[in-house]
Amino acid sequence: MLDIRPITAFTDNYHWLLVDTATRQAAVVDPGDAAPVLAYLTQHSLQLVAILITHHHADHIDGIGTLLAKYGPLPVYGPATARIPQVNHAVQEGASLTLLGHSVEVLEVPGHTHEHLAYLSREPLAPGQGRALFCGDTLFAAGCGYMFEGTPPQMHASLQKLAALPPDTLIYCAHEYTLSNLRFAAAVMPHNTALHERQRVEAAKRERGEPTLPSTLALELATNPFLRCADPEVIAAAASVEALPERDPASVFGVLRRWKNRF
Ligand SMILES: [Zn+2]
Repeated sequence: MLDIRPITAFTDNYHWLLVDTATRQAAVVDPGDAAPVLAYLTQHSLQLVAILITHHHADHIDGIGTLLAKYGPLPVYGPATARIPQVNHAVQEGASLTLLGHSVEVLEVPGHTHEHLAYLSREPLAPGQGRALFCGDTLFAAGCGYMFEGTPPQMHASLQKLAALPPDTLIYCAHEYTLSNLRFAAAVMPHNTALHERQRVEAAKRERGEPTLPSTLALELATNPFLRCADPEVIAAAASVEALPERDPASVFGVLRRWKNRF
């Protein structure tokens, strides 16, 4: 069994820490800032044994060097790209790695960046839970990542790959963007009652100073417009802001993504 703990960094990043409480070993996902990770590991007497990287952006990788300097040579898993020279275990779609005794599967989800990866535990990491998905800046709670490098069909396909996972999959994304994403979602889906309920629940969490994450895939399927590109309400909203001659889900996704950029 592993505990998954959020380490907050910068203004809205989460560096997810996987902790084996029996062995006091830990692994971290996307440590853009080493300082809060080091502080947490020290305070809780944990030994860092592995690093997972989803993509090359500085707020996901800039802490790697400092962590390696402190904890010695560790496996750093990530995409095969010259843009992340710190990766020493390059992995690709379908690869398996063993992390703190648990099997983790690698998914390629291009769109936010060309080489973006997600990591999915093969089994629940704690009893009674769903499997854990670490999806970086691809799928966000109630939203999705900015499309820096991909095309709408590519990003849409990546999100659909995640949407096909079991509904109880726990979604650990890398930013706390949920409330602003929900405001956009409400503009797209004003009649979605599950969305209104979610806005109330997530706002209360933030008022208590709690993360809104992890989310579940079931909740995303019900309330995330970027996973609902075949929903008539979403299609109608997209067609109201931009000419939409092709009403296929990838075209609807493209309109939503451009709309969100200027929202
Ligand atoms: Zn990014």
